[in-house]
Amino acid sequence: MSYETVIGLEVHVELSTASKIFCSCETTFGGEPNTHCCPVCTGLPGALPVLNEQVVDYAIRTCLATHCAITPLTRFDRKNYFYPDLPKAYQISQLHKPIGRNGHLEIETAEGLKKIGIHEIHMEEDAGKLIHDPWEDCTLVDYNRCGVPLLEIVSEPDLRSAEEALIYLEKLRSILQFLGVSDCRMEQGSLRADVNVSVRPVGSQTFGTRTEMKNMNSFKAIGRAIVAEAKRQIDLIEDGKTIKQETRRWDENKDSSFAMRSKEDAMDYRYFPDPDLVAINITPDWIERVRSGLAELPESRRARYIADWQLSEYEAGVLTTHPAIANLFEETATLSGRPKDAASWMLGEFMQAAKEQECEPQDLHMPAQSLATLIARVAEGVVNRNTAKKIFTQILENKVDPDAYIEQNGLRMVSNPDALKDKIAEIIAANPQSIVDYKAGKTKAMGFLVGQVMRAMQGKADPQLLNELLKDALDRA
Ligand SMILES: [Zn+2]
Repeated sequence: MSYETVIGLEVHVELSTASKIFCSCETTFGGEPNTHCCPVCTGLPGALPVLNEQVVDYAIRTCLATHCAITPLTRFDRKNYFYPDLPKAYQISQLHKPIGRNGHLEIETAEGLKKIGIHEIHMEEDAGKLIHDPWEDCTLVDYNRCGVPLLEIVSEPDLRSAEEALIYLEKLRSILQFLGVSDCRMEQGSLRADVNVSVRPVGSQTFGTRTEMKNMNSFKAIGRAIVAEAKRQIDLIEDGKTIKQETRRWDENKDSSFAMRSKEDAMDYRYFPDPDLVAINITPDWIERVRSGLAELPESRRARYIADWQLSEYEAGVLTTHPAIANLFEETATLSGRPKDAASWMLGEFMQAAKEQECEPQDLHMPAQSLATLIARVAEGVVNRNTAKKIFTQILENKVDPDAYIEQNGLRMVSNPDALKDKIAEIIAANPQSIVDYKAGKTKAMGFLVGQVMRAMQGKADPQLLNELLKDALDRA
């Protein structure tokens, strides 16, 4: 029998507001343990929460970008559970009146466009972090993260493969980043997903029993976990066994998951409306104010790059993977007036530099003005492309000003035919074998001699002129 995998994702994203959701403590990642805390976020008796308006703004942005209907009178509920990462013994979350419902995202799959439903989006507070210390055999707790605002974005079970799940996650991450609501740094836990997986025979309309893998913070692990979990479930069914509804933990090192606990239902959490927080009246005016300030999303930017600047689909796609990359590209293209060149530098040297420095391209420090100047100097024939590459590295590593660097290091391209002819004569005289090879039709010899002259001129020769003059000299030799 062949089976179909059914996947639903609950994505938790930490919002990049300056302060926490119900107090004024800072949200910066890291810091000495328990230094970003106060009586509110550590749940001391009598402390009262005050809602951070920015959180609602960010939630509205996200609802608009994912086509969710916004609940006009949204409200917070208490989700009760006893665990030391949340000292209040309840999490302020939303169950009955989440801020957004019935949205969708369109993803591009191998079979074409596919609509993935978004069941709901709700606002909640993050919990603290438990650090298990195996040496001291104890558990430490850090409440810096406690009360950091979260959005939980719950998809419908519309995804059918690990590939689709990853395309959906990448698309969602890119939207959240372009909206400016989260940095989505998975390694810092600002984007994590609970992955629900079930299987059913192809053609069946009812869902199988699902399991959930919680708090996954790497796309690679999510992809592998889905494949492994679907296989585990199919094997159980084929063996005539039943699948238990449970929470499982994915072990990346063992490439397998193991059962943690049976899955709780909403009832287990004894939800009830939080009496300390009034309902929020989201007026049409408020929504319009947020809508009018909404950042341009990657899809629209891609279309613009292709239509206005004649970039290819591929180039436009790479340049819109992160807002910092798209912004740098757009600024450089505008400042230099050479969008094609700007794209070529970004896709070439810029991405290569990120690979070499083993960092994300958006974390590189490259001022648009410097890159635009460099592009202009190549176009004007002040420096050749190879020299420009070296200057590019200097801008990245030592923050040099390209014009000053060219002057200080005498990097102007040599386009003076006499200066080039002298060097060519010297090199030809020193390499008689290459002349013989060239005459015998070995084109490699030409390349070798070009390299020799270039080196003798510290890479500053005008490459086109050098080629012409060298060919001329060889034909006459
Ligand atoms: Zn606080």
